[in-house]
Amino acid sequence: MPENKEKVKCPLCNDGYLEDEISDHETYFREGTRNIKLVVKNLNIKRCNKCKEEFLPKEALNRVQAEKHKKRGLLTMEQLKEIRQKLGYTQEEMADLLGVGKKSYLRWEKGLYLQNKAMDRYIRLIAENPENINILKRISENLPKEEKPTSPTSP
Ligand SMILES: [Zn+2]
Repeated sequence: MPENKEKVKCPLCNDGYLEDEISDHETYFREGTRNIKLVVKNLNIKRCNKCKEEFLPKEALNRVQAEKHKKRGLLTMEQLKEIRQKLGYTQEEMADLLGVGKKSYLRWEKGLYLQNKAMDRYIRLIAENPENINILKRISENLPKEEKPTSPTSP
């Protein structure tokens, strides 16, 4: 993609132009009550040649997001997708298998929300041993389908 020939004006100062740069990007994220520092090495970013503000293109943001997942010990969006595709499931089928809403699953794969640690381990168990899928299917087959909640105790 020869897109770096076109000059893009800096949306911040509206004076300088964005230039390609490879740099170590430093960021922070919260894990419970702690602030965790993360340095992503050799990230392809854009920097304004006037105000020096840095901008992260989509690919860079995805990489930062993936590094955050790794640091948290969670499967990355890419890994989630790989696991699902290896199993030959659509996103909807994967959500069904896991017993979560389709939207929840989509959000994990898109990195909009983090799957929690329990769910992460559960997905790893399925990936490591697909025999677990048969067990899950057996469980879900025995569940009543499309029943409206009648119990007043359910929220
Ligand atoms: Zn600028």
